Amino acid sequence: MDKREQLKTNSTELLQRYDRLLELTTELVSTLDLSVLLTLIVEAAKELTNCRAAALLLYNQQRNHLYFEAATEQLRSDDTLIAIPMENSIAGWVFTNRQPLIIEEPGEDPRFFREIDIVTSFPATNIIGIPLLTKDKIIGVIEAVNKTTGMFDDHDRRVLEALAAQAAIAIENSRLFRQSDMISELVHELRTPLSALSAAVHLLDREELEEFQRERIRQTIANEVHRLNELTTNFLEFSRLESGRMPFDKEPVHLEGLLRETYEILRPQADQEGVALEADIQQSLAPVMGDRNQLKRLLLNLINNAIKYNEAGGSVRAILTRQDHGVQISIQDTGVGIPQDQIGNLFDRYYRVPGSENSFGGTGLGLTIARRIVQNHAGRISVDSEPGKGSTFTIWLPGGMED
Ligand code: ADP
Repeated sequence: MDKREQLKTNSTELLQRYDRLLELTTELVSTLDLSVLLTLIVEAAKELTNCRAAALLLYNQQRNHLYFEAATEQLRSDDTLIAIPMENSIAGWVFTNRQPLIIEEPGEDPRFFREIDIVTSFPATNIIGIPLLTKDKIIGVIEAVNKTTGMFDDHDRRVLEALAAQAAIAIENSRLFRQSDMISELVHELRTPLSALSAAVHLLDREELEEFQRERIRQTIANEVHRLNELTTNFLEFSRLESGRMPFDKEPVHLEGLLRETYEILRPQADQEGVALEADIQQSLAPVMGDRNQLKRLLLNLINNAIKYNEAGGSVRAILTRQDHGVQISIQDTGVGIPQDQIGNLFDRYYRVPGSENSFGGTGLGLTIARRIVQNHAGRISVDSEPGKGSTFTIWLPGGMED
């Protein structure tokens, strides 16, 4: 092929790529589900640069790390929360400098974060990294790895930059949509206590009411005000956790001490309900690295539930043990239990097991918050329960987290 023909082939190929880019970005802007969107973006990055694999990393402000949020099949690992440090990583360099970067032989580059090859079992021989920039900030990085033939070039950079610009807008849109979704859900949840309050106020106007009826209405008002208070406080806490605005202080946390503090706070409530608080703690338990306030909130929410959904004469037992390079926390109760078919919904926002909303106060956000905290600590949470006998919530937290 002479030079002119070669040039023609190249430009036809380039046009085809931009055509395809247009098709793909139309798909991106119409997708609001974040995880679907991220998968579309990495597949598009792989296809447009004709490479073996692609990944998308988003910045987590709380932890000052980039997290692998989506990857094409070749770069996926069992560990869904691979954290990439800002220093000594190619993605970290692209993020900090807000500049694209093409690297041949990344293994020889001091910026390469070697662990990633090991975790994914996919050795990188060449990489291109592109910053995900919105109008006023940087939110993450797209990486394409191992060009099928040859090396990544300027065309790859340009086409990926165009994709990244659209992708960043689509990600921000989907986050905004999620926030507005959360607010409409809250407004919906506020309606029930508000209408109960407004009915109560109307009833109080009736002159013919007996004193005991007035007293009942006053009690309803007090309960509903309490519920509104709980709802708004929990919502604020939850939305802070979700948005990443809550600072994440990483420090060694002794769970034994934290459990003692939690029991002290909840003991008056447990005494009132006639529920015994017990603990079973393995000796010389190593501290976990985490955020003390968040971990305290986690214990408070789970133990509060274990007391609340219990009965007089029942008990709550917290068991702390060392397990698989981490610590396992089990909160066992002898309470009402949870039907098997409800367990899958427990962690959903505002979800309450049918029937429990009439007998016990609550907002349905406690377990959603608990799960988010466990995720922030790269841990796991699960539930085992038998109706009428009791429930066990089990959490595993890594003992020594990265750096
Ligand atoms: P709530 O504010 O309603 O307690 P949560 O998110 O903490 O909200 O819990 C969601 C639902 O899960 C509760 O409404 C309750 O039905 C059920 N649940 C949570 N913990 C327990 C438990 N220890 N025993 C029985 N049911 C529980």
